[in-house]
Amino acid sequence: MNVAATIGEARAMLAGLPRPLGFVPTMGALHAGHLQLVKSARAECASAAASVFVNPMQFGPAEDFDRYPRDYAGDRDALASAGAALLFAPERSEIYPAGFTTSIDVGAAGSGFEGAARPTHFAGVATVVAKLLNIVRPDVLYLGQKDAQQTAVLRRLVRDLDFESRVEIVATVRDPDGLALSSRNAYLNETERAAAPSLQVALRGILEALQSGESKERALERGRKALSPLAQLEYLDVVNADTFEVLETLRPPAFIIGAARFGRTRLLDNVWVA
Ligand code: AMP
Repeated sequence: MNVAATIGEARAMLAGLPRPLGFVPTMGALHAGHLQLVKSARAECASAAASVFVNPMQFGPAEDFDRYPRDYAGDRDALASAGAALLFAPERSEIYPAGFTTSIDVGAAGSGFEGAARPTHFAGVATVVAKLLNIVRPDVLYLGQKDAQQTAVLRRLVRDLDFESRVEIVATVRDPDGLALSSRNAYLNETERAAAPSLQVALRGILEALQSGESKERALERGRKALSPLAQLEYLDVVNADTFEVLETLRPPAFIIGAARFGRTRLLDNVWVA
């Protein structure tokens, strides 16, 4: 596996890779969910590239940028074993050199839910992904369904700004008890970890209730009841999968989305309805 720390090195190494090229952007602390994206890229493309960059621009001032888990050596080994041909792992100053000021406003798909809870988050995500797409120029961009609103925002970005990459969404990889794998699961203590799968149980309960004809209000109530008493709920809702507009009835393509805090750790999950 080639490892590039600078944009120049990455471009030189990428020029020699067989096409089509699949690309997996990550913030590191890699788990089986991230590696599933690399496996999909390997299965569907001639080569796979990944990036590891904890993007300061997508963290708010009171968020966990400093304590976000980092494991560069583990990430490099995991990507090499998964068959990635290139790892791009830049320093902050390579991506945001002195004088950098540009920020991409993602519009409506990024304004509610995560965008409301984290007002500068999607501008940070969109800006770094736009830069990475310009650096890597992949044929296919691989994203995880786990971050449902991010998939809507980035699919919009690719269409609106005429990036030539195709976007592929990969199903969420879960622990056996249903908890979606996330780098932030490392923050959970034992009690919080035991309570965390209730978010997925709540979302599945909402889907079943809606599919059996219950009103959205009653379905969401059922979801709230299925959550562990330890969970501090932020939202449960039903949205259009492309625009993230709130739906009053279940009309696919849709996501049933949820966010809750378990202790200090904020977890997201969703159910996709095709
Ligand atoms: P992150 O490092 O958290 O920015 O995630 C990098 C990519 O991996 C994003 O496209 C995520 O949606 C995806 N991802 C994170 N967790 C999972 C998971 N459990 N299953 C599948 N993809 C995931």
